[in-house]
This record gives sequence, structure tokens and C-alpha cells, in this order.
Amino acid sequence: MFYLDSKNEEMCCGCQACEQVCPTDCISMIKDKKGFTYPFKNQEKCIECGLCEKVCPFVQKKKIDINFNGLPKAYYAANKNVDTLMASASGGVFTSVIDTYCKEDFAIFGVQFDDRFKVIHSYSESIEEAKKYRKSKYVQSDINNSFKQAETFLKEGKKVLFTGTPCQVAGLRLFLRKDYENLFCLDLVCHGVPSQNIFDKYIKYIEEKYKGKITDFTFRHKVLDKNGKWNSKNIKVKVNNKDIIHKPNEDLYLKGFHGELFYRPSCYNCQYANPERISDITMADFWGVEKLYPEDDVHRGISVILVNTPKGQEMLKGLTETMSLKEVDLDFVIESNAQLNRPAKKHLKYEDFFKHINNERFDEAVNKCIPKPPLIKRIASRILPNEVKKNIKKIIKWRG
Ligand SMILES: Cc1cc2nc3c(=O)[nH]c(=O)nc-3n(C[C@H](O)[C@H](O)[C@H](O)COP(=O)(O)OP(=O)(O)OC[C@H]3O[C@@H](n4cnc5c(N)ncnc54)[C@H](O)[C@@H]3O)c2cc1C
Repeated sequence: MFYLDSKNEEMCCGCQACEQVCPTDCISMIKDKKGFTYPFKNQEKCIECGLCEKVCPFVQKKKIDINFNGLPKAYYAANKNVDTLMASASGGVFTSVIDTYCKEDFAIFGVQFDDRFKVIHSYSESIEEAKKYRKSKYVQSDINNSFKQAETFLKEGKKVLFTGTPCQVAGLRLFLRKDYENLFCLDLVCHGVPSQNIFDKYIKYIEEKYKGKITDFTFRHKVLDKNGKWNSKNIKVKVNNKDIIHKPNEDLYLKGFHGELFYRPSCYNCQYANPERISDITMADFWGVEKLYPEDDVHRGISVILVNTPKGQEMLKGLTETMSLKEVDLDFVIESNAQLNRPAKKHLKYEDFFKHINNERFDEAVNKCIPKPPLIKRIASRILPNEVKKNIKKIIKWRG
């Protein structure tokens, strides 16, 4: 089922490990019609060494050599600094790790926007600079040659902190083909990733709608509502020097993203949407935390972390200064987080969306696949408190 043999698009997560490992540079990444990149092999240059298959995270997950030693364990994790919480997607775990561990001789790999909102992996050698990696970017990052760069640092004896989606971390581990004492990996529980093409179309739609260039963009912007409840799923864009906030139920990109409408095909067949992790520490939102601690609000910034390796366990010890940490029941955490149980489910209109998006505007394509709810539902959704909405949903479910 290896992608380069089968051409089955559900078997390639686009991590670029095969491209980076190839000794004859015979693999290049080519975009398909949906805007996702896939490896293409130049048969004339191939020496049949088989390395491309040996580093594929979709074929080799079981071969990743990790010492689990009775783990994982799950921990409630929230940064003690309010500014950090507001600048982070979730509980500010990433900041706590870099503040604690990356003081000297470190390369931190993470995901940033470039100046035209392309989502790329890069590295920073300073903590301040690495803060550009904070906040989720709901787009597949271009890894470029990050695995090769990380390997060079590791061989020089520099410490490396690599952050990314689980399939990217798995790609790195397989690319390296051995564990390094000076390598620390942090992955995310991941819903799925849309392509850069789709995000570019969305950016174009927003710039046309507000008649100006976007100069700043944030996913997971946190807002406190008039009832004292936080929402962490908003988008904030700066256009014509004005901040505009889109709520998750109003924004069409978020509607498609949370509606599982336009992820990479392999995300629906993800090999990593389960508790068998491949990094030292896994970061996630602590959905359901209010059931354990009713005074908490996940949207203000509460993460759950899975500590997967003895190296991760050692790392955790140093995080207590900057984070509130308490061990919680692993089974509860798994039950409460869908992507620790199964991959995302493909939206019924998935193929239709990609037919529309190539010829129509972004808003038209999304609205045709996920139509607006009836007016009465939209009004109710605006005015009713969340608790009432939850109860109505329960009654509808109960009545079948
Ligand atoms: C595409 C995506 C899907 C996610 N889906 C879920 C989910 O279904 N359930 C859940 O519980 N949590 C999910 N998360 C993770 C969660 O929302 C937080 O990002 C995570 O808990 C870290 O929180 P933090 O406050 O420590 O992060 P921050 O301080 O905000 O740091 C963000 C970290 O995410 C990395 N990152 C940002 N964008 C990307 C990207 N496109 N690809 C790879 N790495 C990236 C950065 O390098 C950095 O390490 C997802 C994150 C992303 C990026």
C-alpha cells in the first residue's frame, strides 16, 4: 500500500520524508488537483535503494523505535501566565516547554505564517523568535528540508525541539532512523489539515470582502463573551488596520474545517488518531475538563498533555514552575477527545467541494456544500445560552 507503488492518496500524509531521504534526489513533491502535494519519482534517477518506503510514516508506524516504559500518562496542563494563555491556542504548553528547556544551544522547529500567509515549518534559535510558532495554523505546513536541518543540528550535538502533527513527527523519526539523546518531540492531537490552496482561496475571499490586504491573521483568537464564557475558536484578521473577529459559526473556513469538509485525503485514514503516540509529549485541548473541574473553562486555555516516553516524563518535572499540572485519568481523556479514538469522518460533499472550489469563489463552494441553517435556528443560536442549546440538542438526539 506504499503510496509510490499504489498511488492511493489516502496512504500519503505529505510529510516529505521520502523526498528528503532520497540519496539521488529523484523524488519531488507535486501538487494534485485538490492542492495537496504528493511524491513523484523520476524512475531514471532511482537506484531502487528502498529508503523512501522505509521512512514512510503510513507504512512503518510500528517500526518507530520508542521506549514507552508503561506510559502514556495524562496531565491537566495550563500555563500560569495569563498573557501566555491569550497568545496560545490552548493551555500554553509549547511556551512552557521552550521557556524551560530551550535556554541554551537549541534549535526549535515549529509552524509559522510567512509574510503572504503561506504555512511553513522553520526553525528558530531564540525563544523570543520561536513565539511566532504559537497559535494553531489550520493548514498543512510545508516541511521543506526541516528533517535534514534537524539531523545536521543533532549530529553537531545541538539540542533539537521538533513540533508538528503526529505524522510529521513520525516522518522525522523514521527519516533519522535512530533515536538521539538530544532530540525532543512534541506532537498535537490533530483533526486534519486543509491544503495551502484552499487557505489561499479563503484569504482572497476575505480580502475581496473587506476591500483591503490582510496584514495579520490569527486562528484560535480567544474572546470573553458577555456571559463570562470564553470562546477560543475565533479568527481575527487585520484589514485596513482594523481588527475583524469572525466567530466559529459565522466563518466559512472554520465551518469547513470543523465540518471535516476539506482535509487531506490521508487525514480520514490517519494512522495516528489514537493513544499510541510517537512523540515525547502530546499536546491537546482538554475537551470535557469541566466535568472534572467545574470551575474551569477549556476555551480560556486548558490543555491536556500525554507524556509518552521517559524523556517526556523527565521534561514534565521542569514544567511545574510555569504550568499548573495534575495527573488525570487517561481513559477519561481518550473518551473526551475524538481524535484520540478515530480519524475525522469525510464530509458527504467532500468531492463536490473540490469540484466547486476550482471554478467558484470560496464562499460559494462552502455554502453549496454546507448550506446555512434555517433563519429560526440561526436566531436561536445567537440568543440562547449555551446550556439551553446543549439541552435542546440532547432532547433532539433522545427523540431520534
Ligand atoms: C491542524 C491542527 C489540528 C488540531 N486538532 C486538534 C484536535 O482535533 N483536538 C485537540 O485536542 N487538539 C487539536 N489541535 C491542537 C491544539 O489546538 C493546540 O494546538 C495544542 O494543544 C497546543 O496548544 P498550546 O497552547 O500549547 O499551543 P501554542 O503555543 O499555540 O503552539 C502551537 C503549536 O502548534 C504547532 N503548529 C501550529 N500549526 C501547526 C500546523 N499546521 N502543523 C503542525 N504544527 C502546527 C506549532 O509549531 C506549535 O508547536 C490541533 C492543532 C493543529 C495545528
